[in-house]
Parts: sequence; structure tokens; C-alpha cells
Amino acid sequence: MYVVKNLSNWPADSLNPQGRASIARGGGLTITQRRSLGTRWESKAVVYAVADRGTPQHEAVHAYCAHAFGSTGPTWYSEGMAEIGQYWKDSDDKSVQCSPEVLRYLKSSKPKPLKDVVDRDQFTGDSWQNYAWRWSLCHLLGFNENYTQRFKPLGIALMTEQRNISFWTVYGTMSQEIEFEYLLFLRNMEIGYRVDLCSWDWKTKFKRINGRRTAVSKIKANRGWQASRLEVEAGEQYHFETVGNWSVEDKGEELTADGGADSRGKLMGVLFHDYSLSEPFELGASGTFTPAGEGKLYVRCQDDWSGIADNRGAITLKIKRLP
Ligand SMILES: [Zn+2]
Repeated sequence: MYVVKNLSNWPADSLNPQGRASIARGGGLTITQRRSLGTRWESKAVVYAVADRGTPQHEAVHAYCAHAFGSTGPTWYSEGMAEIGQYWKDSDDKSVQCSPEVLRYLKSSKPKPLKDVVDRDQFTGDSWQNYAWRWSLCHLLGFNENYTQRFKPLGIALMTEQRNISFWTVYGTMSQEIEFEYLLFLRNMEIGYRVDLCSWDWKTKFKRINGRRTAVSKIKANRGWQASRLEVEAGEQYHFETVGNWSVEDKGEELTADGGADSRGKLMGVLFHDYSLSEPFELGASGTFTPAGEGKLYVRCQDDWSGIADNRGAITLKIKRLP
């Protein structure tokens, strides 16, 4: 790796001209050569990068992938993973650590459809904005509990250039779910956001209830939206109660589901219907509510999206339909 702080210290013939040009533009470049040795192959990767924090890390991912797997995969994967490397801090840190500019850009832009992010006719070095989309999708697929298990085998298949494997062959049957969670991620993303803790619960069964039936669920303070098991009907009235306490900081004040100051710790609800969400609404520790529309009720402990990982405790939520 040539990591260059001051180009004028480097004589003209000391750097590859393309590498020098990339550094002069404030970026980096990885040049990988491969040769086949029959059943094996041999590779060499040379990195040129400016001496900032992220660029050598970004390029090191390209170099590693090319060495270990033979290629870095299609552009969306190659650059998305290199950007994850750029922001990498600690091996067990799953939180969002992108640059503030990338965060602002993603949150203020019209979301890019999945099919455009993973489109195969893309080229490397196009724009930092496209790199931001690729990073955000790789971050979601890599850390969200619904998609993480398939992500590593997909990556290896792409980098080893296995035929007939693509984003669509691996995730195609889940693409509606991924698109929904991708939009949710882009909307709520903050520095410190945890896609693993906000993984959507697609598995829990929901039911419409009446009479003496009760929907019971246990809701953790340190997760995003969670299944209440209740499917509401528009215009019906529901009564709910909660038991238990939680806190919105590690060793913080114990709160009921009414929450504390500025509504942190309050039980909130949202309706999921046809892959879209209603506006969130306040519930609290007990009371009644009349939903404006139909849908599956998801609930959570109100807190900044960047700060749910240190929350503690859980409450039990019971809901009945009023006659
Ligand atoms: Zn790159």
C-alpha cells in the first residue's frame, strides 16, 4: 500500500501514473493482477491511497477481496463493502458510522429503488452519492437479522464469479420485505442506528380478536418496532394494559410504559398494512385507542433511533377489543 500524505515528496517514477492521478484527486485505487497456475491462481494487489482515515481502509477491502476470492464482485457489492470498510471501527460494532454528509444525503434524497442500487450496468468511481446507496444496502443486508445469513454466501459467490448467482437469485423472494426495511432504514437512520435491533418481525402471527380473547406480547426497550400480535380493524375500540418497567439508558431511571420527560420511554404504536406504515401514535401504560385504519399493530419504547441499544427492561402488553 502506498499511503501518500504529500505527493511532492514522491518522485515522478515512484508511483504508478494511474495511482498518482487517483491520489491527486483525493481518492485511491487498487490494482490487482491475477495469473492462473492451472487449478490455482496467484494474485498481487497494489493500493494507492491518500493518507486520510477512510480511503486506505476502503482500498484495503478491495485488495483483500481480490486476493481471497479472485474478484471484488459487481459494483454495488464491491463498492458497498469497501465503504463498510471505510467506516469500520471495531469488529463487534454494528452501529451506523457513516460520514455526516452521507447521512444527510441519504435522508434528504428520494430513496433509490433496490433494482437501481444492484443494477449490473454500473461502474466504479461514478459518484460519492452512488457509493452512499451501495453502502446503505450492504450495511442493511449485512447486519439485519432477516438477511445477514444469506449475505456472506452471496458475497462469496459473487466474488468467486459463480455463474447464475445474483442479488435476485438469493434475495428475490424477499425483495418486498427488503425494500420495506430499506425504506425504514433510510428514514430512521442516524449515526449509532442499529439495523440488527430494528430488524422487522415478519414471523410472529397476528390475529384479529373479539370477545374474551386477549393479545399478549412482551416488548423489549432495546428493540425497534415489535409485534403486538394484534391485527386491528378500523373503527373498533381496543383497551390495553402494560405490566413492567424499562429504562431508556443503561442504569437509567425505571419507567412505566408512560415514559418520562419528553415522552422518552413511552409505549408507541404504528400500523403495518400492505408494506407501508401509518404515522406512529402514542399509547402509554394503559388506555383505549380507536385505530383510523386496519393493519398489524407494532409497538416500541419511544427513544431516539440512535440510542436504543443501551435501553434496558421489557414490558408485557395485553390488548382486548371492547364490545
Ligand atoms: Zn472502491
